[in-house]
Amino acid sequence: MLKKGDKLVVATHNPGKVREIGDLLAPYGMQAVSAGERGISEPDETGVTFAQNACQKAVHSANSSGLPALADDSGLEVEALGGQPGIYSARWGGPQKDFAMAMERVHTELEAAAATTPQQRAANFICVLALALPDGTCTTYEGKVSGSITWPMRGLHGFGYDPIFVPKGHEITFGEMDPVKKHQMSHRARAFAAFTKACLS
Ligand code: IMP
Repeated sequence: MLKKGDKLVVATHNPGKVREIGDLLAPYGMQAVSAGERGISEPDETGVTFAQNACQKAVHSANSSGLPALADDSGLEVEALGGQPGIYSARWGGPQKDFAMAMERVHTELEAAAATTPQQRAANFICVLALALPDGTCTTYEGKVSGSITWPMRGLHGFGYDPIFVPKGHEITFGEMDPVKKHQMSHRARAFAAFTKACLS
């Protein structure tokens, strides 16, 4: 259990993520400091699961700072593609982070797999949060949203694969959904809820 006033390193160099995690921790009286601010390097992601990659980042920051550290790893798993792009979701965008190209690839590969119905095009967004302590232990918390892949892309909100993902029980994509609503039901929100329930009071 983390306590009010504890300092926690947010193990990311992405300012958007630092802000988002900082906002989440503020009501619990936690002080979030970013890995970038502390001059902590970014380790290579060499794991083969979201949990391994999230722990790799969190453990590296906890070891470098002597403080508890929180990291996340997330992505899109398309069932008919054997879970791809999965941990490679960011990398499918290439160095230019071209997600129009990455979404096109998802669509092309689904066509090649003759996956046409929403059931055959089932997909999940996954987020794993990892909390590492300076003693080297690391615990993970997972959040998941199920849905299906649609084509063509729809909507201008969000980022990454949002324009082709329709969450279960909805007709619109995450790209068309009001961001406030997406944030209430997202894989990230669910992972945060599991983490706060287990670790924050
Ligand atoms: P990372 O967690 O920063 O390694 O990258 C995760 C990648 O997964 C992002 O670059 C996106 O392409 C994709 N991704 C994760 N969460 C979402 C989401 O909520 N919407 C759309 N794409 C997402």
